[in-house]
This record gives sequence, C-alpha cells and structure tokens, in this order.
Amino acid sequence: MARKCINCESRKEMTRFDHETFTIEHGGSQIEVAGLSGWRCGACGEVEFDADSARRYAEAGDQLVLREREQQSKEIRRIRRKLGLSQVAAARLTGGGHNAFSRYERGEAMPMPAVVNLFRLLDKRPELLKELFRSNRKSKKAKVGSF
Ligand SMILES: [Zn+2]
Repeated sequence: MARKCINCESRKEMTRFDHETFTIEHGGSQIEVAGLSGWRCGACGEVEFDADSARRYAEAGDQLVLREREQQSKEIRRIRRKLGLSQVAAARLTGGGHNAFSRYERGEAMPMPAVVNLFRLLDKRPELLKELFRSNRKSKKAKVGSF
C-alpha cells in the first residue's frame, strides 16, 4: 500500500529515510539533529518524521528558540549599558511598560523586533541617541503648547 503525502496527497512518491541529519535554522543560529528517520515526499519535498524523530526535532527547535532568546537578552543588556541608559530610561524610550527591560534582560519576555532593531542601530550609531531625546523633548513641548 502506497503511503499518502499529508501535504500534497501524492501516493506515488513517499520514500523511506533513516539516520539522516537535519539542520534547523532560526534567527541566524542553527542546530543539527542527527539520526532522524521518516518519510519524504518526492513530489513536494514534505518530510514526515517517525514519532521519536518528530519529538527530537521539535525539542531541538525549542532549544534553538531558547538559545536565541538568551542571546538577544544579553545583546539588549550590552547595548543598553553601552548607551548609558537605565532599564527605566530604555523602557521610556521604547515603550512596553517601566519594567519591560528587566523582563527582556531576564528572558521573561521577547522585545518587539522594532526595539531590537532600534538598539542594534544605536549600537552602531550611539550618537543618534541624543537626537531621540531631543525630538522627544520637542514633541512634549508641542503637546503642552497645544492645550
Ligand atoms: Zn507531497
């Protein structure tokens, strides 16, 4: 009996593989999982792992996400310190509540990509921080003036 692909429903092309090594990529880092087995569809390329392989593959993926979160926490902390910002000042600049940065840096929450991107930009061009504070002050004055 031919096995049916769950993705494209082709019955002809499912072939068995054993002890293969898969590489999972996430956010610029990668991890290798060896000794995986299952079925591969020759028509669409979809892979169906055996139960044990599926579990190991998923665990490795989770590990990679955790590792990335940890690296991002460290990066955020390093850049914040380099800029001479307290956690509260950094949160005031990017939003997310007054304790947002202590949560990011403890790995309890993931910052929005916009926050990470802003910090990476400020890492390369720290002098732009002055511009941010200057324009924040201006917009506050404008608000007060408009009342
Ligand atoms: Zn298929």
